[in-house]
Amino acid sequence: MVRLTLRRGKEESLLRRHPWIFSGAIFGTDGEPEEGDVVDVYTAEGAFIARGHCGIGSIAVRVLTFDEAQPIDASFWIDRIREAYGVRKALGLTDSAETTCYRLVHGEGDSLPGLVIDIYGTTAVMQAHSVGMYLVRDEIAEALRTVYGPGKLTAVYDKSAGTIPPKSGIEAVDGYLWRADPADPAEEIVLEGGNRFRANWEDGQKTGFFIDQRENRALVAKYSRGRRVLNTFCYTGGFSVYALLGGATAVDSVDSSEKAIRLCAENIALADPAVPHREIAADALDYVRNMPQDAYDLVILDPPAFAKHHKVLGNALQGYKRLNAAALAKMPKGSILFTFSCSQAVSREQFRTAVFSAAAIAGRRVRILHQLTQPADHPVNIYHPEGEYLKGLALYVE
Ligand code: SAH
Repeated sequence: MVRLTLRRGKEESLLRRHPWIFSGAIFGTDGEPEEGDVVDVYTAEGAFIARGHCGIGSIAVRVLTFDEAQPIDASFWIDRIREAYGVRKALGLTDSAETTCYRLVHGEGDSLPGLVIDIYGTTAVMQAHSVGMYLVRDEIAEALRTVYGPGKLTAVYDKSAGTIPPKSGIEAVDGYLWRADPADPAEEIVLEGGNRFRANWEDGQKTGFFIDQRENRALVAKYSRGRRVLNTFCYTGGFSVYALLGGATAVDSVDSSEKAIRLCAENIALADPAVPHREIAADALDYVRNMPQDAYDLVILDPPAFAKHHKVLGNALQGYKRLNAAALAKMPKGSILFTFSCSQAVSREQFRTAVFSAAAIAGRRVRILHQLTQPADHPVNIYHPEGEYLKGLALYVE
């Protein structure tokens, strides 16, 4: 195995178990590791410190283990996935009658940096964010089958084409790594909090459905009774369905993607609401700026990540400010705003500041009802706080 040696003193973050090693921390190597290889990392003094997947970008190594005696073999993948499964079992997600989709592996949060696995009924959908994880996808599929056992898993779908680093040169093609029956459909009606949704992993964004808003949707349902609700950036209409079933008097869902609007309409049809719902294909900022004053008593703003990396942080914060100010300016007294950021590069504090400046710009007094985040099946590694990517606020608007 290739050995990488750190520059003197660069082991500090690893001693604290941060799972990444940046390229600037590397002093040298005794070979020429290829992207995705498993490498051993040593301190300048020659002590073993970590073993992980090698990358060619700014993250030189994603650490898999700090234990020198732990080989990265089939039983390693089984053990880590079994551990992740144990956590979801403790959360009541693995055999819930109400919720049949959950995140099984959340990268660094599950000590598997570069790997995401979501479960939809009996299908596992994996996304590799590193070449190392992509190269072992078959071993991961095998480990999933071992951990779940026959019956509880019927397919493993790899959806890494859009997530592995573009510079790697690998031409990944999405597809099944394993399937009990090739005639099974590429979608499943899943349950979330007792509500039915169509999840399509072959066609949808991310792994098919935004699982990370589960608990925030339940909160929206709670506040929707008797309110006219606007759900912007609605995608498959998760918030809209909860609002409708929570007793909203009417719900409008806005997304700029025609496909998202179609998926939203399908989910609304499954919910079969008794009150009016409209799907509107439009740019959300334009829509909010041009909507009539006081038209909605509850507004949801859940845009895509405005900042994919730190370089565009300033623009992203401006974007959040503009969007929130436009919405707040139009909301009636006594209304509620649910506003989110899923940008990893934007900190909780920066997001709050952007939203509070938006309130000042709109001349509105707001108070915080809830500070929102991702649910527990998206755990955060305490040594990798960046993993806490979803931030939200529920505000009472006066
Ligand atoms: N709230 C959703 C997830 C939102 S994902 C849920 O709970 O599932 C972000 C969505 O924003 C995508 O569906 C994308 O099509 C949409 N989008 C991106 N830019 C947009 C824009 N300018 N106006 C409206 N929608 C936009």
